[in-house]
Amino acid sequence: MSQELLKGMNPQQAEAVTTTEGPLLIMAGAGSGKTRVLTHRVAHLIQDQKVAPWRILAITFTNKAAREMKERIADLIGVTDANRVWISTFHAMAVRMLRRDIDKLGYKRDFTIIDAGAQRTLVKRILKDQNVDIEKFDPRSVLSAISNAKNAMETPVGYAKTANDIFSKIVAKAYAAYQKQLELAQSVDFDDLIMLTIELLEQEPEVLAYYQDKFEYIHVDEYQDTNDAQYRLIQLLAAGWKNLAVVGDSDQSIYGWRGANLEIILNFEKDYLGAKKVLLEQNYRSTQIILNAANDVIANNHGRISKNLWTDNGDGEKITYHRSNSDRDEAVYILGEITNQVKNKNRQYRDFAILYRANAQSRGIEEALVKANIPYTMVGGSKFYERKEIRDILAYLSLITNPADDESFLRVVNEPKRGLGDTSIIKLRAFASEHNWPLLEAAANAHLMNDLQSRAQNKLMDFAILMQKLIQQEQFDVSITDLTRAVYQETKYVETLKVSPTPENENRLENLDEFLTVTEQFDKNYEPDEDSVSKYVDFMSELALVSDIDNVDQEDNNVTLMTLHAAKGLEFPVVFLVGMEESIFPSFRAIIDPKQLDEERRLAYVGITRAKEKLYLTNAYSRMLYGKMSNNMASRFIDEISPKYLDMSAAGQLDSYQAREASLPFARRFQPATGTTFQGRPVGQREPNNRNLTSSRQIHQAPNPDNLEQSVSWSVGDLVTHKKWGTGTVVKVNGLGEDMELDVAFESQGIKRLLAAFAPIKKQ
Ligand code: ATP
Ligand code: MG
Repeated sequence: MSQELLKGMNPQQAEAVTTTEGPLLIMAGAGSGKTRVLTHRVAHLIQDQKVAPWRILAITFTNKAAREMKERIADLIGVTDANRVWISTFHAMAVRMLRRDIDKLGYKRDFTIIDAGAQRTLVKRILKDQNVDIEKFDPRSVLSAISNAKNAMETPVGYAKTANDIFSKIVAKAYAAYQKQLELAQSVDFDDLIMLTIELLEQEPEVLAYYQDKFEYIHVDEYQDTNDAQYRLIQLLAAGWKNLAVVGDSDQSIYGWRGANLEIILNFEKDYLGAKKVLLEQNYRSTQIILNAANDVIANNHGRISKNLWTDNGDGEKITYHRSNSDRDEAVYILGEITNQVKNKNRQYRDFAILYRANAQSRGIEEALVKANIPYTMVGGSKFYERKEIRDILAYLSLITNPADDESFLRVVNEPKRGLGDTSIIKLRAFASEHNWPLLEAAANAHLMNDLQSRAQNKLMDFAILMQKLIQQEQFDVSITDLTRAVYQETKYVETLKVSPTPENENRLENLDEFLTVTEQFDKNYEPDEDSVSKYVDFMSELALVSDIDNVDQEDNNVTLMTLHAAKGLEFPVVFLVGMEESIFPSFRAIIDPKQLDEERRLAYVGITRAKEKLYLTNAYSRMLYGKMSNNMASRFIDEISPKYLDMSAAGQLDSYQAREASLPFARRFQPATGTTFQGRPVGQREPNNRNLTSSRQIHQAPNPDNLEQSVSWSVGDLVTHKKWGTGTVVKVNGLGEDMELDVAFESQGIKRLLAAFAPIKKQ
């Protein structure tokens, strides 16, 4: 037994590392070393138990977590063995399994994974083809209905059987066409990845037997956030050896809105009889004060199993609570603190993380950081892959790797302009569907199209020849970078941009250069695994899987900005939780729904426990968000923390009125008075700094009191009666707070977007 692997571990951790046989549940609070235990357990299996690395599977929540785990295992037992372990997210695992065997389901192994943008374009086109008025029926609502159907494992045929209202009927028809198009184009969407893998394992006994035998030891991190489909997948894989180790913390389940099911971890011992349970109680990450604050907050949740989490890291500094006049001031305060600590406390920019509830909150902070010249990385904010020029190039690459990819064909056939009109394309689509050909093949045979002039025929054939040339490059096994350069040149994409050097085009050229950095990095690090179809397909998969949570570059000395959700599993010496206000965090929707409030509180627990040494909680009296001014009370989560852990002296920097307010306990500070605005301070109280809040009052008209009680449970599928428009069905719930909007499909009107709190609607 290698002592090195157990060095410094407490007895419970050591037990979890060395208990390798049978089902194992490691339940423990934040920062107690769960992920570390999994990492060491994998190393222990290989080094001490002599298990072959390729018989081990470890599932992480993000690609970044997978990379980190791989690196740590490499540090412990060497890079060769570490690379042979399957360490990946559910989606990446699904792609890998499908690349090997999806042909058994009638797909080609070099299938394309389509992104959200391409999904929308496809649905839009289908709706138009089906003469659906897309002003009335938003393609996005249709798409999310399709996605829900897939997650419920409902086929287009099954869906059509139960489709009774007008909207469902439209969805049923679109869903059937959508799925047919995907299959024709040899494409799958993200929902399909998990569903098809389950289908594969359930339908193909040899494939199931292969993986059940292969994966002798299975590990899942962040198990509290698995959804039903992922649960099913694990259940199938683990049925062979039953050596399944899962780690999780029921207090950190924060993806309920995406289908995560907390019951799954709570039922583990019932599902896997004879499971061993290990509890870890020592936290190694945070100071005692940070931990106490986190425990204070989470103690308010209902029906939880209370835990005893402690640390011997010492009390550390108090948590600073700061309330500013405005969101701008809040940003300025944060910058001041960062600058100060970098100057005087020997901290680096990379020590800081700024965490917020909703992406929209980042804009103001970003602006301030840019002005102050502080380097930062924003996780999830990178729009790089959404830029037109990048998506065009990706479409070319996709068409090269999968010539059946009609979506990509349509995107690039006239990009740059090749003088092909809409009519020619419509005719081409009809011609292709007549012969059951992909569009590229149809274009290559355009000379057979009787209804097309020879000029247009030639243009289509030229395009097919051009693509053929590029496809051949792939067969010569050129690097991704060389292939990309060939695309830039042969398609005349770059040349066309250079011809008119507008600032916009110059920016596009810069982005295309930047994309070559991505390809070069891939070429440099690429190592095929045994199931690789080709490096081109692997490159496309990798890009498709880059999720928004994953673009943190640890090498850079940058401040990190991200949502609380994206911060799960991470840690930073100094953390700012910003926008700690009612209606923002907890979100408005959560305030009126106890179940969601519990999830929101778990998110607060996750946020607080990211901090190692110092935590700041900040908010503002007034803020511009979603284009509106609002005045929110301080978050109840602040009040839930015992005052002895909070340092309120920062409030003293404000004017005396605010200082006085800040020093009062939360409940007294914000007693709602009759005639108050919907959220915010009572009407008639003095405004801080004489700021005139009339405008916000005007914006905040009184909500419909009926809706306040009812909006508790607005969800997709609810039936609605509207005063004027009659009966409708909720097809989408968007946004937070007073901004919560419902997309409602009315028989008479099509889809209308309504403000939940204000519209004259009643739930049936
Ligand atoms: P989370 O719930 O946030 O995912 P976790 O339980 O997975 O947290 P880890 O990230 O594994 O916790 O560990 C938290 C920190 O504590 C890490 O920096 C880790 O290296 C450190 N740590 C864990 N166990 C020990 C130990 N026995 N000795 C020293 N450091 C430890
Ligand atoms: Mg962890």
